[in-house]
Amino acid sequence: MRVFSGSLATETNTFGPMPTGLASFRDRGYFPAGQHPDAMTFFSGPLWAARLRGKDQGWDLVEGMVAGAQPSGTTTRHAYETLREELLADLRKALPVDMVVLGLHGAMVADGYDDCEGDLLARVRDIVGPDVVVGAELDPHSHLTPLMVEKSDLLIAFKEYPHTDVLERGLELVDLCAAMVQKKIKPVAAMVDCDMIVTMHTSREPARGFVDRIQAMEGKNGVLSISVAHGFSWGDVPEMGTKLLVYTDGDASQANTLARRLADELIGMRDALTVRYPGIDESLDQALAFDGGPVVLADGADNPGGGAASDSTFILRRMVERGIRNAALGPLWDPIAVRIAFEAGEGARLAMRVGGKISPLSGQPMDLMCTVKALHPDMVMTGLANTPVPLGDCALLDADGIEIVLITLRNQAMGTDLFTQLGCDLAAKKIIVVKSSQHFYASFSKVAAHVIYAGAPGAVTLDLNTLPYRKARLPKWPIGAAT
Ligand SMILES: [Zn+2]
Repeated sequence: MRVFSGSLATETNTFGPMPTGLASFRDRGYFPAGQHPDAMTFFSGPLWAARLRGKDQGWDLVEGMVAGAQPSGTTTRHAYETLREELLADLRKALPVDMVVLGLHGAMVADGYDDCEGDLLARVRDIVGPDVVVGAELDPHSHLTPLMVEKSDLLIAFKEYPHTDVLERGLELVDLCAAMVQKKIKPVAAMVDCDMIVTMHTSREPARGFVDRIQAMEGKNGVLSISVAHGFSWGDVPEMGTKLLVYTDGDASQANTLARRLADELIGMRDALTVRYPGIDESLDQALAFDGGPVVLADGADNPGGGAASDSTFILRRMVERGIRNAALGPLWDPIAVRIAFEAGEGARLAMRVGGKISPLSGQPMDLMCTVKALHPDMVMTGLANTPVPLGDCALLDADGIEIVLITLRNQAMGTDLFTQLGCDLAAKKIIVVKSSQHFYASFSKVAAHVIYAGAPGAVTLDLNTLPYRKARLPKWPIGAAT
């Protein structure tokens, strides 16, 4: 069997302050055809799964481009079209193939393209024709459009949030696609739009139980695969929203019935799924009042994984103003401040202006007297599913009892080694503020005595009713919905 793999992925926050250009892909992960390293990256689940299965089963593998960018604002037309054409050229060169497996995101938006993945899959289908099996692995924060479903044979989204199951879902994808090539199965899809947008933290109920239940249904009674697209609220496109996708083996009415039933179940639990976000001072009050520590405070509104700059100072400012000490905060994306810290050197004490630089959503910069506690050139953090996350040059500052990790390549807090590689003793801290919505949880829950999801201002604001939607079909619970 001849198998083509490749990836093109980013999550687009159409309200984000910075465009996503080619440099954003090069910073995070760009590997031309045949040059992917000998380790899985976050966007290359299908490529890696095909390598693992291909070795066992003697497949003829052709690896196309893998490109993934840190989430940010709308992708430029130039970046999207350049990378799309590179991947499609790789595919044309690989023909004939039996199967195409792609690592996509599902919420990539570019100038002139509200549905990049639908556009890409349609072009892939045009190239390979109706008989070649086309599958893709998606992030559940996908818009999951009807065009994507129509132009592919199988789409499988990560089930876990934090997304720790990149490899597991990738292996399912290649196994089911291979079974389809061998005519052992005939997947038929049913998708139901839940007419809402919810966040599903699988670290707690009721999302945990729901995901466990759908996973237990797979592989039995003709049910091949079930995915939940949570959707991505910060992508203003017509198809934004939570959706349920079911594949059965040749039975369309079974797929429709099951998708509808599971969608109704999800709609019934939407209030319980909703995360409560106390404001900054209330979150700090709760953290200080907690008996013991550390308390992890998630600043999801400034999560670069959702397209924010990751340099906002709203929480830091209140911590400084309130005289809070014995705390850590990171990562703050501030390459200029990193440069200054490297020039000053370890142990230097100097006045520094940190954060608050990118847009009004970042707040005002903070002028702080800092000690440069540690410097780490080209630091790499452990990301989800143990994938490496390059952070560039990094510095640890101490500003009167608050230790701040500054990074050069924008990324969210995923592994605790973001702090510990710089010598920051997390276990001894009372409060740890992380720039992340939920991915931090996989690693930081191991050191946290308590976790608070704080509601601060930012580009990934949790107050969806304040976002200036133009294209999303509204009302869509809880946006513009009567409560
Ligand atoms: Zn996601």
